[in-house]
Amino acid sequence: MKRSGEPRQSLQNLWPALLLFGAILTVAWAGAGGRFGPEWLRWLFRHRPAGIIIHHTASDGWRNGKLLDAAMVDADHASKGWGVTYKGKTYHIAYHYLILADGKVEPGRPEGARGGHTRGHGDYLGICLVGNFSSRDNADGRMKPDRPTAAQMESLTALIRDLMRRYDFTTEDIYRHRDFAQTGCPGDRFPFERFIATLREPEPGVDSERPVTYNGAVTGAPRP
Ligand SMILES: [Zn+2]
Repeated sequence: MKRSGEPRQSLQNLWPALLLFGAILTVAWAGAGGRFGPEWLRWLFRHRPAGIIIHHTASDGWRNGKLLDAAMVDADHASKGWGVTYKGKTYHIAYHYLILADGKVEPGRPEGARGGHTRGHGDYLGICLVGNFSSRDNADGRMKPDRPTAAQMESLTALIRDLMRRYDFTTEDIYRHRDFAQTGCPGDRFPFERFIATLREPEPGVDSERPVTYNGAVTGAPRP
């Protein structure tokens, strides 16, 4: 009697059960909306941004008398190796949007391109406000703005409301860089809780005294 073959036999019988188990896990995963687990797994089931992560540049808002803008940040990030090539164009800037010190919103990399702003979370859209909002690193306020300006917060609110509409995000999908990494970004002077509370309020009418500088049409447009 040949007994050595039996364990192999029973292992072979397990395969259908293992395949079924795998299929159940897969369906459960897709059902959970691809919100959890490593980035590649989320991307596999999502194919759209997982949410939004807010940053600050941790720098001054001006350079050589000019507003620090997306083109300058793109040049700064060129040496960092965070770049992506998307539809034939290379983008070094790690963020999808940059909000300048005066509140102007500039596109960074297109929304369809992976972000380079938060390790392991390239499937999140990155929005960066120019300035240094850390009371530790910028205690004396020598870097301006040292807290988000009203114009920046107004633009950020309009931009995020638009993204929430287009991608079906809730306020649960909005994070700070510090929520994912050992960093203070976007600084303790960024009023995150208050900002999230604002987003939960119904959207005010479009008639505003100040024209909204963000325009959805700018998405993915080439930088000037
Ligand atoms: Zn950051």
